[in-house]
Amino acid sequence: MIVKKIPDIYERLSLLATGAKFDVSCSPSFDRKNFSKKESFSKFGIHNTWTSDGRCVALLKVLLTNFCVNDCAYCINRKRNDIPRTVLKPEEFAKIAYEFYRKKQIEGVFLSSGIIGNPNKTMEMMVDTVKILRTKYQFKGYIHLKIIPDSDETAITEAITLADRVSINLELPTEKSLSLIAPEKRLLSIVNAIEKINKIIESKPIGAKSQTTQLIVGVTPDTDYQILKLSENLYRNNSRLKRVYYSAYIPVNDDPRLPQISKPPLLKEHRLYQADWLIRYYGFHTEEIVSDEKPYLDEKIDPKLDWALKNINLFPIEIQKASFETLLRVPGIGPTSAKRILKERKNTMLTLDGLKNLGVVIKRAKHFITINGKYYGNKNIIQNYRQNYLKDIQQYSLAI
Ligand code: SF4
Repeated sequence: MIVKKIPDIYERLSLLATGAKFDVSCSPSFDRKNFSKKESFSKFGIHNTWTSDGRCVALLKVLLTNFCVNDCAYCINRKRNDIPRTVLKPEEFAKIAYEFYRKKQIEGVFLSSGIIGNPNKTMEMMVDTVKILRTKYQFKGYIHLKIIPDSDETAITEAITLADRVSINLELPTEKSLSLIAPEKRLLSIVNAIEKINKIIESKPIGAKSQTTQLIVGVTPDTDYQILKLSENLYRNNSRLKRVYYSAYIPVNDDPRLPQISKPPLLKEHRLYQADWLIRYYGFHTEEIVSDEKPYLDEKIDPKLDWALKNINLFPIEIQKASFETLLRVPGIGPTSAKRILKERKNTMLTLDGLKNLGVVIKRAKHFITINGKYYGNKNIIQNYRQNYLKDIQQYSLAI
């Protein structure tokens, strides 16, 4: 391990920003286009990201340290890697974060860390850092704090009190995969921590209102069914779990336990997000999308359209009468347009153009609905979808 003293704080910050960039559990970050010195800002870990209420904010996203006692195969900071290591003391981080904030270069921080010493010591260092930021520097910006697995409840509670959002990463969906490539981590202990965090958030009127987690996808042979079933259970048991982030595996280490891939599985990540959305907002159960028998999402087609085509006997539905839940099952209709349809049809007879104005994606939806008894779609898609639905989908621009 290379341990050299790096007196320059910006050099250390830059190292710690590199170590943090693979964590997407505060939502994927991107560089702000109108930053005049974009490169230098991203070098120090300042990136734009979306907050839970839809605001685009510049966050300082760094690790407190890239030292780590663990040896997760996929991680650039794992202990066996010969990389320059460094640490920011709580006061150092708080001061520099406040300086960026005062100059309006950031609106918040996302603070994570490798494990230095032991989980509890690391969590306490992170809590101290944020405490200095909030009390000494009166920092009023957004704080997303990573919870270190296996740290004590006292430190976790303090972290929740000081932050706007917290997250703890599952990383992999099965105990077997964790023991293979992240041997110090235990799925059950992280799931228990998510539940504990949930209870603390629910019991506290101040501090973080929600939590998130991250799963790396495409690094182990776990199926989409295993991934989505775990997510569904987590959402069901934890009302404050806002999102599970799916992060396509990016190779950074040579390791025989890791797959050889030429590019990150971004389409898999995209389809998992779509399926997750169906579970959270459209009333789907995992087994309607994937199952033990068919455990992988079809990457060629979005999961809602896939479901509709496989359940074509349920369509077309009459738009003037269908319930909210049924409307949500129609490709091209989402929760917002479904609500608008319910409101609008109380007073008017709906039309094809009218549905367009309500936000319905007509080119998709028309094959699955009737409007006052009239069908505007193409029955070929309905009748022959099994034989050549992908060809038809391309022809009629249904795929996304
Ligand atoms: S615990 Fe694992 S994933 Fe986290 S910093 Fe250490 S080696 Fe990386």
